[in-house]
Amino acid sequence: MARTRTPVVSGWFTEDGPDGRGFRLLGTRCSACTAVFFPREDAYCRNPRCPGGGELAEVPLSPRGRVWSYTDGRYRPPAPYVSDPAAPWAPYTLVAVELEAEGMVVLGQAVPGVGVADLAVGMEVEVVGGVLNEDAGTVWTTWHFRPVGGAE
Ligand SMILES: [Zn+2]
Repeated sequence: MARTRTPVVSGWFTEDGPDGRGFRLLGTRCSACTAVFFPREDAYCRNPRCPGGGELAEVPLSPRGRVWSYTDGRYRPPAPYVSDPAAPWAPYTLVAVELEAEGMVVLGQAVPGVGVADLAVGMEVEVVGGVLNEDAGTVWTTWHFRPVGGAE
């Protein structure tokens, strides 16, 4: 029986971007000040310099960015990431990626197999779909960052 692919958080990314370029993170943009928010902000613009009166609309974020910082997680992530203490767990690499067009830094894990030794500040990375967890009926999808070039 096929398992359902379910985003681990709803509305933060799409596996079928509106421009046909595949996986994209989804944020929101304020029509009054053009500020972009990720995680998405749907209630009100959080830019203190916003003139107000704008509307927040969903917008796909840039598919590529540059490594701003990174670290490796060598402890088990706290709940709610892993609720079963007996479940297998492996160290992971956390990457902060600067998106130039949006003027923001977003966080995510590196693709499996990419560690801190494979990364460098300024390296270009792209966002790709990944799997956070799987159980009997569901594949919980998330996003990962994957290097697209060498270190500068
Ligand atoms: Zn605004």
